[in-house]
Amino acid sequence: MFENLPKSALEAMDWRMEHYQPYFQTLYETELTAENVAAWLKGWTQLGDLIMEVFSRLAVANSQNTADPEAERRYLSYVESMLPPLQMANNLLQRKLVESGLQPEGFEVPLRNMRVELEIFREANLPLFVEEQKLGTEYDKIIGAQTVTWEGEEIPLAKLQTVAQNPDRSVRERAWRLAHERYLADREALNALWVKFLNVRQQIAANAGFSTYLEYRWKAAGRFDYTPQDCLNFHAAIEEVVVPAMVRLLERQRRALGVETLRPWDMNIDPTHPMQLSVDPHPRPALKPYQSIEELEARTEAIFHSVDPTLGEYFATMRREGLLDLENRPNKAPGGYCTAFPVAKRPFIFMNAVGLHDDVQTLLHEAGHAFHVFESAPLPYLQQRETPIEFAEIASMGMELLAAPYLSADQGGYYSPADAARARLEHLQNMITFWAYMAVVDAFQHWVYTNIEAAKDPAACDAQWSALWDRFIQGVDWSGLDDFKATGWHRKLHIFRIPFYYVEYGLAQLGAAQVWRGALSDQSSAVARYRQALALGGSAPLPQLYQTAGARFAFDAATLREAVALIEQTIEQLSAVH
Ligand SMILES: [Zn+2]
Repeated sequence: MFENLPKSALEAMDWRMEHYQPYFQTLYETELTAENVAAWLKGWTQLGDLIMEVFSRLAVANSQNTADPEAERRYLSYVESMLPPLQMANNLLQRKLVESGLQPEGFEVPLRNMRVELEIFREANLPLFVEEQKLGTEYDKIIGAQTVTWEGEEIPLAKLQTVAQNPDRSVRERAWRLAHERYLADREALNALWVKFLNVRQQIAANAGFSTYLEYRWKAAGRFDYTPQDCLNFHAAIEEVVVPAMVRLLERQRRALGVETLRPWDMNIDPTHPMQLSVDPHPRPALKPYQSIEELEARTEAIFHSVDPTLGEYFATMRREGLLDLENRPNKAPGGYCTAFPVAKRPFIFMNAVGLHDDVQTLLHEAGHAFHVFESAPLPYLQQRETPIEFAEIASMGMELLAAPYLSADQGGYYSPADAARARLEHLQNMITFWAYMAVVDAFQHWVYTNIEAAKDPAACDAQWSALWDRFIQGVDWSGLDDFKATGWHRKLHIFRIPFYYVEYGLAQLGAAQVWRGALSDQSSAVARYRQALALGGSAPLPQLYQTAGARFAFDAATLREAVALIEQTIEQLSAVH
């Protein structure tokens, strides 16, 4: 349809909406029929892929050098000039397709998504989304300004985390209290911001005709395949199965540390990840898996070749084509991510490797997302490649687990058997504690968004959070820390910025554990199923994506019990090596 469109995004880096507009116009004016709808969708895909890849490339360039004002200017100007008109143009095409009543092949799920997007779309909400964004920026500002004075030096809170490795318990306690007191100093500001968030969200839901924000958010998040009640069942299953397992795990930590009760600073110092088990009862130097980025790439490639030859080949392609930017350098943006270049049909991984095991774990995770890009690239329409997070995180979390057996050097990986066991132990322990913490975060939001008036009283939120904390978090002694405990919701960015977005990780983790379980009895068929499921992109409903991957999309205690038993049993085995 659009033969004269640039064949490569590199030729369109300076294109703006006025360049794309004639193409959108053509699509909009086309009379849709059963005969031409496939070509029409293909044309829309060509446009969308090009726009997306230019966006990804500008975003990558900006994060590769945040000190380059030109890269920043190009990125921001693209976002600002493209986003609003693009949303409008897409909205018109969606409406056109839905109203045509046509049912293109393989388009059932995207069509279902579009219908709901149109159903909840209200022009009156557009300024409210902007308002919500601004409030989000305010949250970032408050948190970003938090520093503490530690050993005479003013440092950001994140830097305090290294104290978790200090064997002196009183030093850890001091650092923990310092970090959490810093959050408490912003208590009033965060409470005030919270009420503003709730007012905006209440209005958004009302404008779209919903009586609760929960109902609105459910549709906006495209949650077609599960209900709020399913999530409540998941919480109950976690309480029944995960909490006792976590208590056993933390009891092990308590005994290893030789303390009377396990206090929060016996787990970690990080206020944003209260349940991560980072304190090492046997203080040892950090794992040093590699000496150079070249070595990080080569060993990771060897691991993927062991998992599956095709996946190994994908990673080799990324190395060959310069699709990895792994090393930490001055002026790189923080964190790590995987993005897609849909015209080139390639992924790109960005991260900040500093020589620690975390880098290996991040790379395995992001590579799982990258494999998703490779596997789903042949799908003809871009809407089929939009994968729900509940499944996308199986690609990544599943890969962390599938790759774990190959971490030791005798399997092509990095470590002695004892060090490999140490790395895997930490990962598996944190899977257990994550489910419990996730249940608190999710259950809290269920309460907030069905009782929004009550939730405008921060004291009521404190009480609700504390009650949920007591329900799901056992085995850690929070006595005498009531204010710190009650304000835990202040420290979870998602609760403020990305409402309801969290249970996805808990569900995907359960799916990933099932994929891993399958691989233990038959590696090659489990990986084949994993790849088949990735190849479906977002073209099938969640239960089918899970099933194809060899897992059940589940919320029940029985499924969770199988996963937890496997994790506990593996922890047991690894502890023996360790
Ligand atoms: Zn991920």
